[in-house]
Amino acid sequence: MNIQKKLENYLGKPIAQAADKEIYDGLLTIVQEMASVKERTDSKKKVYYISAEFLIGKLLSNNMINLGIYQEVKEMLDINGKDICRIEEMEAEPSLGNGGLGRLAACFLDSMATLGLAGDGIGLNYHLGLFKQKFENHLQKETPNPWITENSWLKKTDVTYPVDFKGFQVTARMYDIEVTGYNNRSNRLHLFDLDSVDEKIVTDGINFNKEDIEKNLTLFLYPDDSDEQGRLLRIYQQYFMVSAGAQLILDECIAKGCSLYDLPDYAVIQINDTHPTMVIPELIRLLVERGMEMDDAIDVVSRTCAYTNHTILAEALEKWPAAYLKKAVPQLMPIIEVLDDKVRRKFVDESVAIIDRNDTVHMAHIDIHYGFSVNGVAALHTEILKNSELNHFYNIYPQKFNNKTNGITFRRWLLHCNPLLTDFLDRTIGEGYKTDAAELEKLLAYKDDKKILHKLLEIKHKNKEFLADYLKEAQGIELNPNTIFDIQVKRLHEYKRQQLNALYIIDKYLEIKNGKIPPAPVTAIFGAKAAPAYVIAKDIIHLILCLQEIIDHDPEVNPYLKVVMVENYNVTMAGKLIPACDISEQISLASKEASGTGNMKFMLNGAVTLGTEDGANVEIHEAVGDENIFVFGASSDEVIEHYAKSDYVSRDYYENNPSVKAAIDFITSEKMLATGCEENLMRLKNELINKDWFMTLLDFDSYKETKEKALTTYADRMTWAKMMLVNIAKAGFFSSDRTIEEYNRDIWKL
Ligand SMILES: *Cc1c(COP(=O)(O)O)cnc(C)c1O
Repeated sequence: MNIQKKLENYLGKPIAQAADKEIYDGLLTIVQEMASVKERTDSKKKVYYISAEFLIGKLLSNNMINLGIYQEVKEMLDINGKDICRIEEMEAEPSLGNGGLGRLAACFLDSMATLGLAGDGIGLNYHLGLFKQKFENHLQKETPNPWITENSWLKKTDVTYPVDFKGFQVTARMYDIEVTGYNNRSNRLHLFDLDSVDEKIVTDGINFNKEDIEKNLTLFLYPDDSDEQGRLLRIYQQYFMVSAGAQLILDECIAKGCSLYDLPDYAVIQINDTHPTMVIPELIRLLVERGMEMDDAIDVVSRTCAYTNHTILAEALEKWPAAYLKKAVPQLMPIIEVLDDKVRRKFVDESVAIIDRNDTVHMAHIDIHYGFSVNGVAALHTEILKNSELNHFYNIYPQKFNNKTNGITFRRWLLHCNPLLTDFLDRTIGEGYKTDAAELEKLLAYKDDKKILHKLLEIKHKNKEFLADYLKEAQGIELNPNTIFDIQVKRLHEYKRQQLNALYIIDKYLEIKNGKIPPAPVTAIFGAKAAPAYVIAKDIIHLILCLQEIIDHDPEVNPYLKVVMVENYNVTMAGKLIPACDISEQISLASKEASGTGNMKFMLNGAVTLGTEDGANVEIHEAVGDENIFVFGASSDEVIEHYAKSDYVSRDYYENNPSVKAAIDFITSEKMLATGCEENLMRLKNELINKDWFMTLLDFDSYKETKEKALTTYADRMTWAKMMLVNIAKAGFFSSDRTIEEYNRDIWKL
């Protein structure tokens, strides 16, 4: 039966007479059925990708693309007077992730299925997700983000596991989301949940009783951890995820004939950052419970687990007081103590111990000692891990360290989000690039072809118009597609330096007020959520929102400069913004961004990077060459040296650089105080002058100069189009299919 018939059967009426929501529900049901009868990937050995986050985005169109029915459905809807984009709007975006790390996990699931590798995800089914961001009085407000609707991609299963906490036991129930591969078999994302969780205990924004574990366990991703109750809740969540996950893994392996001593032949567990680290002691505990000697269990688990590091920010490496672990999961502490004891007997170096002298448990240290692989996520990041952050470990285990530069799935970040460019590529270089991303390089043959270059500019312009229409309708924001779209979208963090971009905007504003007109009108677009307890990050959002308002209302300035901060940046919004971007802002302090994946999405969609030599920007720079990227700022070596010598003094820059001083002083100018809150603005200004831990001011001049160069170059449309073309052509390396092939070749060996 064709899809139109199936859909009409479901609806019980002609498609033209159905509401968008009914059509969405019908397609969901049909696609879900098609996905569930697809053959599962199958092999003796399977990878289990355990992660606290899976930022999967909406699934309807993605699944239809992967199942090969997207075009057919789109045309069929068209004929019946329905618009697929409207149908997409009916789906709530699953709110199971926070940022890059969670999006990476989602891209990896797509690539594993596409490559036909047996690889399932294991995570948690957060009912209210991260949080939904609203702006009120130029401030971020957090509200719950309930995304689980009656008809969703989640399938409730009968699989349950007991999970023990101190003094009580809960039952983990498994929910599944089908992960379709592109023209291939499918895998699954297993999300554990607790039947007793109750969304009604949430009041007043995102507040709830943190001690009522049976009601709150899977409400939110990353609940506030500023007090002991919050930190305990995170331990409860993590243990719940890994204990249920470990039981599932053992069950599946045993069903395939595994004797448990040969577990590493059946399973490889990829630990995504430190949140799932407790899977190591938990698996050891389960194996001992099933009769294995402790030493054998440790050996078996050590050959099964591999760890991915995502950060060099010391404060982001998780450490738990042993007392907290004893309070929540006392059964793990004796095992962690044995693991620590073994390490201490082998190595005198205190810095590699698992439990330090303050009785704090270093989760990453468990992963490194008791995993067989430690990987960074971009070449520079891995080098920094080896040479500085994890140098003591590298000296002990050089063979464990390896690099796996991140990637993105082209199905979502090109085929789905940019149909115009996809269609253009199909006609220009054939469709081979869809399964072999390296084929994008065929485009290089056209880099002096005026017709092709004009076409690229035309596509970009159309995408800018689409974005303008979308933002007008979704958030009431007006954009002018004839301006340069300069976009910085990512989580808000001082190291990512949205504040540097904001200071540049203030500088520009002051220049225009003084009669210096910029070479071309610019629209600076931001999108970012700040962690609810991260005060300075929220102050930076406040600054940007105030600038947006002041500039909007200043007729002297608004013909040349516009600032826009979109609300609730998520995967859906990313899919609209990225194809419309001219300049991709990747301006983290060198050495601090592990990889970045936003940078790759923008490149693939023909934006030109304005960035520091950080994370994967370094590899983007190498791929496109000096002429096709705008690089600025201190190098990672220089930055690391500043930290080592503690010789960066932001006040010196403030006092000696008149532009910097004027921009910072503007933060608490009369105009700003009339728009924003004094407390927030003063605090941010003081922070920048007296601390500025991420060295914003160090790179101000270099950023300004390089950005001016980018804006001037933009005016030369043919040169710019050629830069776009080279960026697209060289993006193949950043396909997550390549990344996953490397994981499999070097780590998983399926
Ligand atoms: C890709 C992506 C990110 C990661 O962006 P970075 O610039 O690499 O930090 C974060 N959030 C969403 C919604 C994304 O799609």
